[in-house]
Amino acid sequence: MDKLLAGKACIVTGGSKGIGRAIVERFAREGARVYYFSRTEAEDPGSLDAAAAEGGGSIKWIACDVSDEAQVNPAVDAVAAEAGSIAALVNNAGITRDGLALRMSLADWDAVLRANLTSAFLVSRAAARHMIKARAGSIVNMSSVVGIMGNGGQTNYAASKAGVIGFTKSLARELSSRGVRVNAIAPGFIETAMTDKIPGEAKEKLKTGIPLGRIGKPDDVAAAALFLASELSAYVTGEILKVDGGMGM
Ligand code: NAP
Repeated sequence: MDKLLAGKACIVTGGSKGIGRAIVERFAREGARVYYFSRTEAEDPGSLDAAAAEGGGSIKWIACDVSDEAQVNPAVDAVAAEAGSIAALVNNAGITRDGLALRMSLADWDAVLRANLTSAFLVSRAAARHMIKARAGSIVNMSSVVGIMGNGGQTNYAASKAGVIGFTKSLARELSSRGVRVNAIAPGFIETAMTDKIPGEAKEKLKTGIPLGRIGKPDDVAAAALFLASELSAYVTGEILKVDGGMGM
């Protein structure tokens, strides 16, 4: 079978670890020229190079704080200049600053909205300018089941992820006539540094609410990102794909 992203330039934000790193590797294994944006470089970049070599793709780190407009525009334009076009963008970067709403500082509220939602707007706006010229492209935003279901202690995070859903559907409507698709993934509970903070006992309890009976892996989300970024999903736009083992049913 042909590689799904052979020769295609893809940007993945937050690609230095967790779900983003799995997406970077998966795309490169499918032949993509991957550019990942994060503030720090991935640990063990050699293993990323090996994945890329195996799939005929390439992986390049671009230092970029995606919540900063002044860094985003030149970073995206540099990719377009080097690669000629941008086939896919995955807005995956995200943070948590959990706490009860009554005790939450405005700084923690703003930081999460900016890193999770404003960043998706900034990078999409910069990338879509190139995609519409080519009349082709796929944007994949990372939401969360928490953005659909809500979660006590995460008002800022849930608001940002619900915002990502509204942003996705609205941008999909704006760009569909220009050949650009926009979708989102809503992962459930995935094993990464973000969820490492949750105590073991609470994790076991969470598992009981997951019909498939296990916590998700970054690769589970990477497979969905590959589907939405590639032509496999050519007739899909404005969709929110839950990857949650049935948790949000
Ligand atoms: P993670 O392991 O903490 O990784 C987060 C990534 O985002 C890192 O690469 C980090 O890189 C990057 N990042 C954060 N702020 C950034 C900024 N301002 N500019 C550039 N890069 C930034 O998190 P994860 O669990 O893989 O989560 C990835 C995405 O999936 C997030 O959007 C998260 O909300 C979503 N999600 C996760 C779960 C889960 O259970 N894990 C569930 C639902 C949704 P640097 O620190 O190097 O910048």
